[in-house]
Amino acid sequence: MSRAIAVKLAGPVLRARAEGPFQLRESVRVGPARLLGEVVRLDRDEIVVQVYEDTTGLRPGIEVVGDGAPLAIRVGPALLGRIFDGLLRPLSGAPDRLAAGLREAPATRFPFAPAAAPGDAMAAGASIGDIVVAGGRRLAALVPPGVEGRVLDIRPEGEYDDDEPLARIATAGGEVAVAMSHAWPVRVPRPSRRRLASVTPLVTGQRILDSLFPVALGGKAAIPGGFGTGKTVLLETLAKGCAADVIVYLGCGERGNEMAGVLDEFPQLADPRTGRPLMERTVIVANTSNMPVAAREASIYAAITVAEYFRDQGLSVALMADSTSRWAEALREVSGRFGELPGEGGYPAYLSSRLADFYERAAIVEPLCGGTGAVTVIGAISPPSGDFSEPVTSHTKRYVKAFWTLDVKRAQARFYPAVHPLQSYAEDALEFAPWWEAHGNVAWWRLRRRFLTLLDDEARLERMARIIGRDALPARQQMTLFCAELVNDAFLRQSAFSETDRVCAPARQAAMMRLLDKFIDHADAAVAAGIPPDALRALPSLRPLQRMAEEIRDDELARLADLQAAMEREFAALAHAREGSDAAHG
Ligand code: ADP
Ligand code: MG
Repeated sequence: MSRAIAVKLAGPVLRARAEGPFQLRESVRVGPARLLGEVVRLDRDEIVVQVYEDTTGLRPGIEVVGDGAPLAIRVGPALLGRIFDGLLRPLSGAPDRLAAGLREAPATRFPFAPAAAPGDAMAAGASIGDIVVAGGRRLAALVPPGVEGRVLDIRPEGEYDDDEPLARIATAGGEVAVAMSHAWPVRVPRPSRRRLASVTPLVTGQRILDSLFPVALGGKAAIPGGFGTGKTVLLETLAKGCAADVIVYLGCGERGNEMAGVLDEFPQLADPRTGRPLMERTVIVANTSNMPVAAREASIYAAITVAEYFRDQGLSVALMADSTSRWAEALREVSGRFGELPGEGGYPAYLSSRLADFYERAAIVEPLCGGTGAVTVIGAISPPSGDFSEPVTSHTKRYVKAFWTLDVKRAQARFYPAVHPLQSYAEDALEFAPWWEAHGNVAWWRLRRRFLTLLDDEARLERMARIIGRDALPARQQMTLFCAELVNDAFLRQSAFSETDRVCAPARQAAMMRLLDKFIDHADAAVAAGIPPDALRALPSLRPLQRMAEEIRDDELARLADLQAAMEREFAALAHAREGSDAAHG
């Protein structure tokens, strides 16, 4: 083990004279309290160490001891249902006690059933047996990537600690013990057999996202938004309702009370799909603003490593990161302490490549043990004073395909989710048209375009109406505004707090889209027939249409069909009355 002696300290950064060889990215223990740190730079006979724990009281002269291995976390079945700090040490649940992390995770016992026998050849990433976790879910005890050889011996079926050796494998480099969990260096992406192309969206249950700006399963999305625009509520809503097998929720640099929703509420929630506790398939990583800043920088890699571990089990994982801006600020602060030259916005020049490293780990893959696994990453961005031209937002745009911009005006009007339909995009949306065709929305691409065009027209006409007054607009344009309002209220608005509506299944989204498409057809025909836009305000079905999202559940699609029939009868009656009056006047 290499030693070094600290010569200089600046906040979380320490410079030490090395008395033996250190590796870049090697994890180290600092001082008598053995604080965790990482070698971030090698300078001839000196090392620069980033310390992940509170460094108050450290003095020059203290000892730094190398671990001989890169900074790593333990991945395994004991992750599920737990709350960790940024270096994956368990935390207790109460936000005010988050600062008190335990040093090591206690071992947890799980039932194990071997799936290999002595003499079997094991490939890297293969399963040596099944682990049963809470809720009866099964995980595989994986041979760590990079390890392969023949099984020498393996334990019989029974309950074991997650870190207890279950099998010995003879490898070219010697004997390796395999347990349910294993260590993995956080900055190294876990290998897979191959990356797959994604033609499937991650179903989020949010209409404006799934129907207008879908994110790929294994894709990446960003949620930029100023303070109070609803980033955290949206991420929490997605964590509760999206169709992923495992949720990894990273609270990064936010205040403890802003994470209270996750920390206090999640342990009480039932999984909408199974009725079992939601926490059974959730891992929370919390590095709140009161925790050491350097650990915040590492927390994003710890969280994505956890996500990749479940991906390697053939599961679909969604990682929510709140917020990547706080992470970038930690990067900036630590870089400043190194004395690095600041770039744009004071961020180090490598901000962009670090963001890329993170987002690149989102993927749908064939894991080493076969099957399909995915990590979808959704990161919130909180640009200072809502300025989207700042470096974190602009660099993130280069790496994400779905961009869900939260709009201050919408949020102020309490229009939630405040995703702006004209400032958001999904670059690969067309790829998902076949998926939507197979999921009840044959005309999805056309309907999506129709909605977006309508909303675009709305913005243009509103600008004009502000100048000349709404009543001065021609009837056709007033009708466009009327229909756009309906699409906003009936479709894009979705309450995170409504029992019926916080998650909307694709079939209901499709039925609602079709219904509104028909409404727009009829409204167009009505204007053409000379029916004034105001006449539509009197349609008895207008109110039920505006309220359909809250009132008609996923399993009541027949009621949407009834509503459509009523709406069509009313339009027919309007047209009929109009013809009658035309005839009377003609
Ligand atoms: P941010 O994380 O962007 O600062 P939050 O997610 O904390 O903002 O939202 C601020 C407040 O806005 C919430 O406390 C809540 O009152 C309201 N809000 C946000 N999103 C929604 C939503 N989808 N439905 C209802 N209220 C919301
Ligand atoms: Mg927030």
